[in-house]
Amino acid sequence: MADTIFGKITRGEVPATFVYEDDQCVAINDINPQAPTHILVIPRKPIPRLVDASADDQALLGHLLLVARELAEQRGVGDGFRIVINNGEGGGQTVFHLHVHLLAGAPMAEAGLAPDMQ
Ligand code: AMP
Repeated sequence: MADTIFGKITRGEVPATFVYEDDQCVAINDINPQAPTHILVIPRKPIPRLVDASADDQALLGHLLLVARELAEQRGVGDGFRIVINNGEGGGQTVFHLHVHLLAGAPMAEAGLAPDMQ
């Protein structure tokens, strides 16, 4: 697979501020936020798209959601947030290294990532 900016970020080759990190994933603020809270949870494993994940990735995928949930709770938005995973160009994905969007703090109708799909 082709390397991506998120691959470089997770490996520390491109500077980024991690709002969370562990041995499986990192989290960064989105550079072009669509809501007051817009965090990307990115696995260190470079899975291009959700459809490229396998059964071996089951625990990792669950971990990404639990990290997103924890970050939402830390920011006081645990009662109202949106999780988005764009898959493929048709799904609005632009960086082909799987990532989970955590969006909160705005009316969710304004926090879409692929308006043509709504
Ligand atoms: P997607 O369209 O689902 O692939 O989401 C990619 C997201 O990555 C977009 O919301 C971009 O704003 C964000 N993004 C791209 N490059 C960076 C970067 N260097 N740092 C933080 N966010 C980025």
